[in-house]
Amino acid sequence: MKNTFDSTKIIQFQRLCAAARTIAVVSHTNPDGDAIGSGLALSGFLQNLGHDVRFFVPNRFPKFLDFIPGSERVEVYNEACDAVRAYISSADLIICADFNRIERLDKLSTAVEENIVAPRVLIDHHLNPAEFELAFSDTDSSSTAQLVYELILAWAGVEAIIPEIALPLYVGMTTDTGNFSYGNLTPELYRAVAVLVERGVRPIEVSQAVFNTQSENRLRMVGYLLSEKMRVHAPIHTAYITLTRAEKTRFDHQIGDTEGIVNMPLSIDIVSFSAMFIETLDCIKLSFRSKGTFDVDQFARRYFDGGGHRNAAGGRYYGPMSEAVARFEQAMAETHPED
Ligand code: 5GP
Ligand code: MN
Repeated sequence: MKNTFDSTKIIQFQRLCAAARTIAVVSHTNPDGDAIGSGLALSGFLQNLGHDVRFFVPNRFPKFLDFIPGSERVEVYNEACDAVRAYISSADLIICADFNRIERLDKLSTAVEENIVAPRVLIDHHLNPAEFELAFSDTDSSSTAQLVYELILAWAGVEAIIPEIALPLYVGMTTDTGNFSYGNLTPELYRAVAVLVERGVRPIEVSQAVFNTQSENRLRMVGYLLSEKMRVHAPIHTAYITLTRAEKTRFDHQIGDTEGIVNMPLSIDIVSFSAMFIETLDCIKLSFRSKGTFDVDQFARRYFDGGGHRNAAGGRYYGPMSEAVARFEQAMAETHPED
């Protein structure tokens, strides 16, 4: 039995919250369903206890998350830099949700680093967490949302899981596991899901809102990428897809449109490692996924200044797409994913 939420740590966390006049919850760049879901649930819970708490992310989250009641509470740093920076740099407590090191906040990390007095609390499931004053870190957890669920339960019991908190928690769990199809699908996760459904979550409605609301352009882009851009290296069980800025424009790309595409090649029987290269204004953003034992966290850290989990990680390359692909090919020649 894990002691992530033993009573000593809960009491320490309660004390830190009680001593804080203002609390900032922050989550990572390119926020996904788990970043937004866990951050909304945690900040909502603390707000319900009477704390002055605000929730920040570095940049805008995908539109499909707008359906979560309370999503309007998420404050986006690059849309209100000064106000966000002022609050965070003078907050009495900073809670970091769904990421393992401050650099994952990109430009928002300056605001956090400016604040040299506030204790920092981590609640996260990524590998290799940095040092924090207090850490609720469990790399075997499906999602940060599952950790927030367990934290709330240990602190305040099931009554605190009101519908406005149950829904974002469920969104975090369902998005980080690809609708419960990969990741750490443990009995604890399904027990949590059972409670969330008892507390008012309607799974079919969430599934519709999260997985069935893409635009026609996005679906056509997926078709194009799979048909024209996916390369499969059968002998090394590897597939990769590249997406340029020109192609994004062609398909009227919106934030969140590339989400999930990197997983698709893994549905090919012989593919156990999949990569996606996405050209952005300042770098090539890489996403890696594997099935089985190939460790993409290690791969991302070794070759692309990134990291993540064993079966899902990301990184970046500063240079043209052709060079990023060449580096990848070279890295693959050194590494052999198993099937
Ligand atoms: P995605 O491919 O969806 O962007 O990211 C997959 C996983 O890897 C996520 O858990 C994400 O937090 C992590 N990740 C993505 N990019 C980076 C990165 O540049 N550095 C680190 N350390 N983790 C990353
Ligand atoms: Mn997560």
